[in-house]
Amino acid sequence: MGAPLRRRALSQKDRLLAIYEDPSSHPRSSDWRWQIRHRITSFDVLKRLIELTPEEKEGFRKAKGRLAMAITPYFFSLIDRKDPNCPIRKQAIPRIEELTVSPEERIDPCGEDSNSPVNGLVHRYPDRALLIITDSCAMYCRYCTRNRMVGDEKPPMSSEQFEKVCDYIRSNRNIRDVLISGGDPLMITTRRLEYYIKRIRSIPHVEIIRIGTRVPVTLPMRIDEELIKMLRKYHPLFMSIHFSHPKEITEEVKRACNMLADAGIPLGSQTVLLRGINDNVETMKKLFHELLKIRVRPYYLYQCDPALGTSHFRTSISTGIKIIEGLRGHTTGYAVPTFVIDAPGGGGKIPVGPDYVVKRTDRAVVLRNYEGKLFEYIEPPAGKETS
Ligand SMILES: *Cc1c(COP(=O)(O)O)cnc(C)c1O
Ligand code: SF4
Repeated sequence: MGAPLRRRALSQKDRLLAIYEDPSSHPRSSDWRWQIRHRITSFDVLKRLIELTPEEKEGFRKAKGRLAMAITPYFFSLIDRKDPNCPIRKQAIPRIEELTVSPEERIDPCGEDSNSPVNGLVHRYPDRALLIITDSCAMYCRYCTRNRMVGDEKPPMSSEQFEKVCDYIRSNRNIRDVLISGGDPLMITTRRLEYYIKRIRSIPHVEIIRIGTRVPVTLPMRIDEELIKMLRKYHPLFMSIHFSHPKEITEEVKRACNMLADAGIPLGSQTVLLRGINDNVETMKKLFHELLKIRVRPYYLYQCDPALGTSHFRTSISTGIKIIEGLRGHTTGYAVPTFVIDAPGGGGKIPVGPDYVVKRTDRAVVLRNYEGKLFEYIEPPAGKETS
């Protein structure tokens, strides 16, 4: 009895390996369900596909119980297997450093749980609310700010719980903007996702709906005609897409963003500043230029949140400020996102940036331009203010 079973198990694994080893065929399969079914989730498979560094091997040996690993064949195919510092690899493959917890790190770094009036809803700003609808993603980013809650791949929010969320939104007329996030909302079937969106759209005071997702980057084939047809029924609907590196903008991603933009969905990007991955002006400029070419407007650049085990990803705040300084004035204004720190403890997003005001008196302001030249702006005569 044992032998045939073992043989079958082996050949299954070999088949999987054969798929990954031929980069021209299946790894870029356009069937998104196939992509999800064939995600790399185990050390045994991964170590046969790529030569792991000692830091990565150790990461697996000790990481039991921590954030799950999952990499779609498509996203894995973007890894340069010869480069231990490949930016795609560093985002997707666990490392031993994840097990180091620094004193400033928190389970819930942005205090979301304490701003949650109903399970699954974060209500921090009076006029908008964040809905955490699922804990699943196509690929688990090692630096995830919600690593406390993603990766178990439980079913999406139950209808019972969702009704409670809708009741809350309905009774809070200030909420005019609902942001659907997770996990990744595009991991839910189109039919189920429509159920949630339709219910939210039926609340009269909800003006806009936003979807926060990384799926167009890690599983671009998920953006299909069926999804587009569904989404375009619920305008005004916006989408924020999480991008990290110019290498992520492939033909598949261009196609996905093109379909979304053609459906009239305004697209913005969110990028986390990551040490050794995108922490320089050149990489960021390239990323933001490539995004504009596919009609994605850079929206936020985030200082990496101090979630548990993320110190190897975090840079100093001044790194982010210097990147903004290297962009503002030097390139298209549309290519410059707002650099924000999501305040630890739940203060929300706080913008930080270069200081262009050099001196301020009651008569004038001395300003510095992008080239470092100084200019004076004379204030209007006193006593003419309207407020
Ligand atoms: C980011 C965020 C929002 C949306 O913020 P915007 O600045 O409007 O994009 C809303 N609620 C929570 C809890 C957030 O973290
Ligand atoms: S896609 Fe977003 S929620 Fe999912 S692991 Fe990455 S950062 Fe976390």
